[in-house]
Amino acid sequence: MLCGYMGKILRVNLSTGKITEEFPDENTLKMFLGGSGLATKYLFDEVGKGVDPLGPANKLIFMTGPLTGTPSPSTGRYTVVSKSPLTGLWGQANAAGFWGTAFKRSGFDGVIFEGVSPSPVYLVTDDGRAELKDAKHLWGKSTSETTRLIKKELGEDFKVACIGIAGENMVKYAAIINDAEKPNWGRAAGRCGMGAVMGSKRLKAIASKGTMKVRVANEEAFREETKKRYDWVNESLLKMSLEVYGTAAVLDLVNVRGGFPTRNWQTGVFRGADNISGTAIVEKILTERKACFACPIACGRLSENKTAPYAGSGEGPEYESLGSFGGMCEIDDLEAITYAHFLCNEYGLDVISAGSTIAFAMECYEKGILTKKDTGGLEIKFGDPNVMIELVQKIAKRDGIGNLLAEGTKAVSEKLNKGSERFAMHVKGLELPAYDPRAAKLTGLAYATANRGGCHITAYVEGPTFLSTPYLIVEQSDVGDILQEIPETAKVVKDMEDALAVFDAIGACKFMGMVLTAEDWAALISSLTGWEFTAADFRKTGERIYNLERAFNVREGLTRADDTLPKRLLEEPLPEGPAKGQVVNLEPLLDAYYKYRGWDENGRPKPEKLKELGLEWIIKEI
Ligand code: SF4
Repeated sequence: MLCGYMGKILRVNLSTGKITEEFPDENTLKMFLGGSGLATKYLFDEVGKGVDPLGPANKLIFMTGPLTGTPSPSTGRYTVVSKSPLTGLWGQANAAGFWGTAFKRSGFDGVIFEGVSPSPVYLVTDDGRAELKDAKHLWGKSTSETTRLIKKELGEDFKVACIGIAGENMVKYAAIINDAEKPNWGRAAGRCGMGAVMGSKRLKAIASKGTMKVRVANEEAFREETKKRYDWVNESLLKMSLEVYGTAAVLDLVNVRGGFPTRNWQTGVFRGADNISGTAIVEKILTERKACFACPIACGRLSENKTAPYAGSGEGPEYESLGSFGGMCEIDDLEAITYAHFLCNEYGLDVISAGSTIAFAMECYEKGILTKKDTGGLEIKFGDPNVMIELVQKIAKRDGIGNLLAEGTKAVSEKLNKGSERFAMHVKGLELPAYDPRAAKLTGLAYATANRGGCHITAYVEGPTFLSTPYLIVEQSDVGDILQEIPETAKVVKDMEDALAVFDAIGACKFMGMVLTAEDWAALISSLTGWEFTAADFRKTGERIYNLERAFNVREGLTRADDTLPKRLLEEPLPEGPAKGQVVNLEPLLDAYYKYRGWDENGRPKPEKLKELGLEWIIKEI
């Protein structure tokens, strides 16, 4: 058997209930590794142009990477890939926690779901065994209640990934939540509406446990390579800041540059930032720090709200929930934001898209585009925490105005019109995370070109730009003056997109890019699999995966016109702060990026580039 892999991928036909096993050849594994890379290969081959994302022909693919479930640092991740109901394009989300490791140790590298089940089911995987079980009694239950009931049925040692009512209701940005061991807990595979696809298939959960070990080619070398990297991460500045302050550690750094989106991106300076910062969390609500599988960092937060009506405890908040429910909605009530995060864990909602869509609705209301008639009498005003919480609940339940907002910012804007598309803050339909590119121009290029839409972790250029932190091989000096559009820096975006595509393929947490380089990962992959895998292979593999994702989108009809930003970022100068007067001049950056990529001027990968990457079989497809 191959090392690094369990050697089995499940194929579950939900329409018939038939479960089979298969596994790709070694050459395919070397080309796409696993995780998001391998899942995208399946998606490209099996989900053709024009398939309805919420129909039976779409597939939902869970995949671990070769490093998932090994002791190398922060490698407990799994990826979910499908055609996204939010963007209509290549969709992907991933999460850490413990479920991915439990699934792999149950004897499988991945599972491909196809068809639609006639009634709700969940999948159990356990030491080489896989079985579908009735989930009628779980339908309508929250993520933590689903997890509790499944553990009661199967045993406490099972780990669960599931959807809540948002996924059942096919909210277009519903998330898959794993490890919801207690009320309000959970890690989220949040982006692109993977939870909605799961709901459309009437698949409530996957419960996994196992004792099977990941085989290692060179045990001693892998142990040594792992220990060295684990020690480096343990001693890093990354650990010191993330462990103490969580992901909220970056909030002050972004706000001080004038790039913390506030009032639906009307400004980048949030005056309430001190009330919701990493320090505020530590002082007011933090009860415990929490690590994912094999992670020395522990950036997770367990928090306790003490004040009614938001009292309760749970997992969160994260920087992105502080950005979307906080800055974007202009709310500085930390307990309200934390409560919104708890609700997203329970309902299974993406915090970025939920908060961002609510902020967009607040501006529509401010401008009279949405009225009390549309909202059922609700005054959707910036700065009102109670309204924000009520809207999260309405969205998950598709209740009243929530039914419209459940479609996501792009769809709401298209329905309302009246100029609202100017401040509908999404790229390709995916709502933007909390870094304003007018305050760091390269971020704008990264948002515009990310294959899954407006995303900050496809090419984590926020590290060397907003945070002045080296990331992989990229130094702060490589990005130059962050308020300038420098075409040569477009190569940084390309290189980081390629590198991070490999992180998603091997099962590694992207925070590790602040400590470990391509050489480090190549050494770990080599000693694990027994392949000669170099840093050059790492980069080439990433580029191959990235181009395959792009090819999926091009086949769906994506063009250069889609690689853009909301008009607000292109035309409305920031009104205050260090980036006052700035907009993003995207086109010169995009021209340079396409050249570095070997794509034509319309953003289509050229045949010679696809041949160079061993992807000649897709030339006829696009
Ligand atoms: S750094 Fe944070 S998100 Fe990443 S694996 Fe560790 S605890 Fe999980």
